[in-house]
Amino acid sequence: MIKVENLHKSFKGAEVLRGINLEIKQSEVVSILGPSGTGKSTLLRCLNYLVEPTKGKIKIGDVEVDASNATKKDIIELRKHTSMVFQNYNLFKNKTALENVMEALIVVHKKSKEEAREISIKLLEKVGMLDRKDFYPSKLSGGQQQRIAIARAMAVNPNVILFDEPTSALDPELVGEVLSVIKSLAKEGITMIIVTHEIGFAKDVSNRVIFMDNGVIAEEGTPDEIFNNPKNERTAKFLNVIG
Ligand code: ADP
Ligand code: MG
Repeated sequence: MIKVENLHKSFKGAEVLRGINLEIKQSEVVSILGPSGTGKSTLLRCLNYLVEPTKGKIKIGDVEVDASNATKKDIIELRKHTSMVFQNYNLFKNKTALENVMEALIVVHKKSKEEAREISIKLLEKVGMLDRKDFYPSKLSGGQQQRIAIARAMAVNPNVILFDEPTSALDPELVGEVLSVIKSLAKEGITMIIVTHEIGFAKDVSNRVIFMDNGVIAEEGTPDEIFNNPKNERTAKFLNVIG
């Protein structure tokens, strides 16, 4: 379903991703852990070309983009296959919850307003936000905004949802409601890649855990392998510090 080959990214000569290889199957939930500054966000952003890789191939579903000859058309197709959930929700401030979820369906996926509304209402219900559908983001808590961002990410029926530290901007008491929504999506078989520092959650929800260090995948395995029996010294050290 997803295949990343020899992905590199440099910013002004500084190499941030140094050859990432990754394969993810349909319905797999993969968590990515690692110290700050190791390229986790850059990797997620390269997957949908929010950041343009310096080198390497990305295949998602039936779209394949090679950095050496990526076309605008390929990139647009790749983006249609992915959704991203950001740390800071990134909702449109001048749109209601419902309008936020409807937006990409209408603008990118050319659905009619009625159809977009119908899909969006169902998703708001799924994330427990239907009763807030006419609220603007400023009138909602961080946890509520993030649940709307998740509904928005699901609306376009992507091949994969990319989560970049979805709970790290939230007050501690709001983390649980967001994690439980993500968990419910995992149960539905939605393919997800989740950058997170929530170890308990990663253990619980992931089929596979990746530890990134200094622009490469230093270690990957099942949650049991990574959390209970890490082979890489840096993985062990990192888990000690945050665990
Ligand atoms: P992580 O998400 O693991 O904390 P990032 O992917 O955000 O790491 O960043 C990895 C490195 O790339 C950092 O050193 C960061 O400063 C650098 N970096 C990220 N984005 C940019 C950018 N747009 N321009 C220049 N440097 C960047
Ligand atoms: Mg990051």
